[in-house]
This record gives sequence, C-alpha cells and structure tokens, in this order.
Amino acid sequence: MITALYVVIGTAFLVALLLALRGFIKNYVKWRGEMLVTCPESEKPTGVVLNAKHAAVTAALGGHDLILANCTRWPERQNCGQECLSQIESSPEGCLIRNILKSWYLGRACVYCGRKFREIHWHDHKPALRSKQGDFVEWSQIPAESLPDVLRTHDPVCWNCFIAENFRLVHPELVTDRPRKPAASHYPTHTWPLQDGLNYEPDPDGEAPLPSNH
Ligand SMILES: [Zn+2]
Repeated sequence: MITALYVVIGTAFLVALLLALRGFIKNYVKWRGEMLVTCPESEKPTGVVLNAKHAAVTAALGGHDLILANCTRWPERQNCGQECLSQIESSPEGCLIRNILKSWYLGRACVYCGRKFREIHWHDHKPALRSKQGDFVEWSQIPAESLPDVLRTHDPVCWNCFIAENFRLVHPELVTDRPRKPAASHYPTHTWPLQDGLNYEPDPDGEAPLPSNH
C-alpha cells in the first residue's frame, strides 16, 4: 500500500516536472531573439534582447516578469526605465525581428526570378535583400535599428538567386551569360560552368533554378 502511494506521488511529481519543463521551453523560445521596439526616450527604432531565461522561469512559476538583457543603446543608457517592455508585452511575436522579416517577404517576389515567397520556416535557407546599388545583405548583417530603413530601400532575393548572383559578384570571370530564352524570361540568365562541375539552370517546370550536374 505504501509502495503504491510512493508510485502515485512519484508519477504525479514527474508529470508536473515535465509540464513545467515544457512550459519553460515554450516560453524561452517565445521570448528568445532580437526584437525591434521604438525607444520611448529617443523615439527611434532600437534593437533589444529580452532575458529569455528569466522570462521563461517566472512564467513557469506562474508569474510574469520581463527584463532586458541587452539594448543597442547600452551601455550608455543601461539605467533607463525599460519602458519599451510594454511594447513587447502587447505584441511579443510582432516585435521579433525574425518575424518582421518573415512577414515582409510573404507575398513579395524575388527581384531576380520573380518567384513569390511563401512562409519561411526556421529550418529554411534564409533569403537575402538587395540594395538599389546591387549589394546583398543577409539577415544577420542588418542592425536592428536600421531594419525599417533596409526594408524600405531594399528588394527581396530568394536564397537560390542570392547564392548565384553573389557568386557572379565575387567571381565574374567564372560566370558565362547566355541569351535569355522567352519561356524562362523571368529567370536569371546565368549558367554555371563552375569549379566542381555544378550547374544551375532554370527548371523547365517553372520552379526555381535547381542544381544539376550537366
Ligand atoms: Zn530568385
């Protein structure tokens, strides 16, 4: 009888522990990552990072406490009141820079191949952006406080075209241009007699350029 009681208590404890752990991970992922807010003091876009571990622990314990772990205005303004946290509390998902970028691509088309972007998942190759001058920018290279300007002044580039066009930019001597075929007119004109024989050609079914070994 006592053994059975220990088993019941042990099982209940284990289940509670697993539920708490699941809640911690869920909240940790929710609050993790750089966020974009408007600094109440400067009234300018500012990048901040929450202390995701603290937020997840307090949430798992039934509380709710957000504090900053970093801000692009630190260390000069490290003693500010962190009033920007109210923006994050009202829209945590909307403040995450990765979500802002994902939303920006959705429904837009690659400036090279014309293919429309669908939802971008965490495991996908990340697309890039191209400035009006033709320079490429990857997500990790965008300073948070510059994100609104970058999104306003750049065009979206899918990952395939970014890899191909960036290669052209870095190694123009290795790229051969061919006359554009009408049927594939929205695709880049490059083909690739590259180092290891890898070619990129427009797919006849209308999908994005795919690697082949021709
Ligand atoms: Zn493309």
